[in-house]
Amino acid sequence: MNMNVPIEVTCFYKFCDLSPARVAGLKSEILECGTRSGMRGLVLLAEEGINGTVSGSAAAIGAFKAFLRGLPEFSDLSFKDSRCQKPPFRLFKVDLRKEIVALGDREVQPWRAARRALSPAEWQAALAAGDATVLDTRNIYETALGKFRNAVDPGIKVFSDFRNFLKHWPENREKKILIYCTGGIRCEKAAIEMENQGFKNVYQLDGGILNYLAQFPDQGFEGECFVFDHRVAVDQALQPSQRYGLCPHCGDPAAQRCSCLNCSKTAFICERCAQERALQSCSKNCAYHLRRNDAAV
Ligand SMILES: [Zn+2]
Ligand SMILES: [Zn+2]
Repeated sequence: MNMNVPIEVTCFYKFCDLSPARVAGLKSEILECGTRSGMRGLVLLAEEGINGTVSGSAAAIGAFKAFLRGLPEFSDLSFKDSRCQKPPFRLFKVDLRKEIVALGDREVQPWRAARRALSPAEWQAALAAGDATVLDTRNIYETALGKFRNAVDPGIKVFSDFRNFLKHWPENREKKILIYCTGGIRCEKAAIEMENQGFKNVYQLDGGILNYLAQFPDQGFEGECFVFDHRVAVDQALQPSQRYGLCPHCGDPAAQRCSCLNCSKTAFICERCAQERALQSCSKNCAYHLRRNDAAV
C-alpha cells in the first residue's frame, strides 16, 4: 500500500432491540463484508445494538457504510470519520457482547428513551452561556489526556463505576448538566442513569468529542482525545497523537519516551512502570531479559 494515501477510520453506534438470532446473523454478514474488503477494526454486537471502529481504504469504508445503511436496522446510522497513515488495528473482528457499552445494567435501554442531545454548535453555545456544569463520563486514563475546560472528572476506572460516582456526587439535581464522552455512546446510557438518579436537566453532546473537534478544534476541548486503538489519542485536528504512545508493559497511555535499557530502542513508557528498572524497556521481552540479568548479578 502507498503510505501517502491516508487510511480512513470511521466509528459508529446505534442502540436498537435485536433478537439473539438477528445478532448472530449480523455477525456473519458484517464479518463477511469487512473481511472481503480488507478492512480492519472491531465491531461489537449485542441485543442492544452495534458499536464499532473500523479502518480501510476510502473505497472499502465507503462500501462498508453503504452495506450497513442497507440493513433495515441501521438505515439511519451516522459515522464519525478521521484519517491516519498507519492502520490503527491489526485484525478485523466482530465480537458478541452482553452490552455494546458496559454500564452493567441491561434495563438501561437507550432506544426507549427520549434523548436531549446537543449538536456541537448548540453545545458551544451552552458552554458560552456559563450556567451549566460540564461532566465528563469517561475513565480517568482518558480524562488525563484531555477534557473540556472546567469539566468535572468523575475519576472512574471503568464506565460501570459511573453509577456509584453519581450516588455520591453532591451536585444539585435541578442544575443544567452537560455530559460528553468520546463518540457519544456512553452518554446514551449515562443520561438515563442520571435521570434515574434524579437529575432533571441533562444534555448530551451528540457524537461526542470526535464530532465536536471536527467542527470546533482548539476551542472548548483542551488536550487530546483518547481513542481505543493503536493511535492512542487524536489531536485537535483529529490526527493521530504525536504526544502519546501505549506503554508496552501495562497498556496505559504514556507521554514520556525512554531508551530501552536492553536494546536501546526508543519507546513510550508510562510514569508508573518507568519507576522499575526492568520496565525501562521497549517490550515485555526486553523486560524479561533485564530482570533475568539483574537476578544473575
Ligand atoms: Zn506502564
Ligand atoms: Zn528493547
